[in-house]
Amino acid sequence: MKKTMMTMAIAGALTLGATQVAPMQTEAVGNGPGYGGNETINTSILTSHSEMAAFLRKQEAKQKDMQLEVIGQSMKGRDLFLVKYMKNPDNPTILFLTQQHGNEALTTEGALDFIKSLGTGKMKGVTDNVNILIVPRLNPDGAAGDVNFSLDDYVASGDHHLTRYNANGVDLNRDHVTRIQPETKALHDNVLSAYDIDYMIDLHHQGPNSEVDGELVSGSILYPTTPNVSDDVLAGSKQLGAVVYDAISKKGWGHIGKYPGGSAETISRNGIAVEYGISTILFEMRGMADHEYPSYVLGQKSNGYLIKQTVTTLESTTRAIADGSIHSKDTSFWDDLPTQTSRQSEE
Ligand SMILES: [Zn+2]
Repeated sequence: MKKTMMTMAIAGALTLGATQVAPMQTEAVGNGPGYGGNETINTSILTSHSEMAAFLRKQEAKQKDMQLEVIGQSMKGRDLFLVKYMKNPDNPTILFLTQQHGNEALTTEGALDFIKSLGTGKMKGVTDNVNILIVPRLNPDGAAGDVNFSLDDYVASGDHHLTRYNANGVDLNRDHVTRIQPETKALHDNVLSAYDIDYMIDLHHQGPNSEVDGELVSGSILYPTTPNVSDDVLAGSKQLGAVVYDAISKKGWGHIGKYPGGSAETISRNGIAVEYGISTILFEMRGMADHEYPSYVLGQKSNGYLIKQTVTTLESTTRAIADGSIHSKDTSFWDDLPTQTSRQSEE
């Protein structure tokens, strides 16, 4: 029963208008096909912004503990959403952020499945002990390909292209200090400054060809790497990463590397940790939904396990904060976690 519901939840987020959904991948990650010019990437199967808005409103009507807020509008006027589960302000609070980069789409599909699961018996009682904030798809204009520059050379097929940048061609994940763009300003003014947040996971997708130990990774993680982060915030970040690592590594499809990230505080992982004292991690999942470089795009047959990877990440961290087990996580794995390298592309 539970398994059926989860399968339906995953299918539900993807099949709004789709004819086919990739089966759950159980084999090694490396078997998920890359694009390579041989496979159709149909962007029509992704949840559109209007479909997402309708889904969130429906969930709000069904779930008494969930509140839906509009925290602002994108450059092109699309609503930016905040999903809130906040029963007790004294509880610890985690923020999940997806799709700052519009072409990194499956993390949002996973977040929607997670929201649905919070309304089911599977997650019953969790929100008594943890507050959850979810900002799904901070960059809806990039996700819709509704931008002030040409995407004609992007490789995906379907009813729209998706791009990393917002409508102004700005990388939102380099705008966390100045907050010039309406999307980052809304996040800082109406979420980060408005709530007492303890943890954040910023969810992204990277190119499909990164590997550790000779095997392609399902994703990579990293804590704040600016020298200005406090010891407490860094320790919490490493524990948050430990929860994710342990949950994903148990899965047949899970293979995690360390992301080779820099120290710039314009990036959310660093800047938000320093400015707000929030323990953060970056999670980069394998492959992008669209790009002008074919080698960055991953075939949609991998969608199943990548969406599941997001759901697993969100559920495991929520539970570990709710039951307090995050505080006893051993973070020594970080010392041994190999930094991913890029496998030579065959092109
Ligand atoms: Zn990204």
